[in-house]
Amino acid sequence: MRKIGFYFLAWCLIILSACSKNSDNDPQTVPIDKTANLQGTGDSANDILSNDNFDKLLIEIDYVQGFRPTDEAMANFVDFFLKLYTFKEDIQFVYDELPSPNEEELTLDEIAELESKNRTLYNTGSTLAIYIYFADAPSEDDEEDEGLVTLGAVYRNTSMIVHEATVRQLAGKSPFITNADVETATLNHEFGHLFGLVDLGTAQVNQHEDTEAVNHCNVDGCLMRAELQFGGPSGKSQLTSSKNVSASGLKAGCSLSGNSVLQMLQKQTSKGAAAAVPLDAECILDLQANGGR
Ligand SMILES: [Zn+2]
Ligand SMILES: [Zn+2]
Repeated sequence: MRKIGFYFLAWCLIILSACSKNSDNDPQTVPIDKTANLQGTGDSANDILSNDNFDKLLIEIDYVQGFRPTDEAMANFVDFFLKLYTFKEDIQFVYDELPSPNEEELTLDEIAELESKNRTLYNTGSTLAIYIYFADAPSEDDEEDEGLVTLGAVYRNTSMIVHEATVRQLAGKSPFITNADVETATLNHEFGHLFGLVDLGTAQVNQHEDTEAVNHCNVDGCLMRAELQFGGPSGKSQLTSSKNVSASGLKAGCSLSGNSVLQMLQKQTSKGAAAAVPLDAECILDLQANGGR
């Protein structure tokens, strides 16, 4: 009887190892669960800020050939933003070069389509995945005559676009501003929205949201200042338009305006710290109350 038991056990072990071998050889059996990365802007604020659920940040940078962001901007982004305001210590980047989609301008729906076609990294275990696309085309919403150009936008909890072509064009307007300066300001401001600022997934400790520009700060000199989004008083007309909602209902949390960023960076440069436009005390207080550093 004991012998039969032994053979039965041995047989089970053989079956088990055969099964596990099979699944190793066939990764298709486990489909990628993308739902955690398809939520609204700001929904993952606490997961990005704290280490409670995720202690690693994996950032996929998909850039159109010739439009890779500078190493300087990426280093600024990590050292003077991500590590300053979150508890994440393990932050890694994966770069993928892509061919141009050959579009003259991009709508939000086209941007989301490019993401679903090209994005390869999603949350797994304790790793939170972020997707940033560096485009060779401007936003469809740009009105260059009025000086309204979009540098970047966020449209989901872990998705961002940077209009790198527009970033470089803008940086070219001033001898004192580099591509890295504009890239850094764009990455940091848009990522501030993924942190849930202002009142976009991270609650306000004290009221400081701009009364006219939702999800932006009313404190002078803050990276999340409202006028950065719309380019000052002349840009406020955009507030009443429905341009920021796409045909399929995707909502851009923010469209960062070019001229106001240029002005802000010129002010910073005269102070000698172009790369580090800081968050103000109110925004930092909100982040700390939601698990941030
Ligand atoms: Zn914004
Ligand atoms: Zn602020």
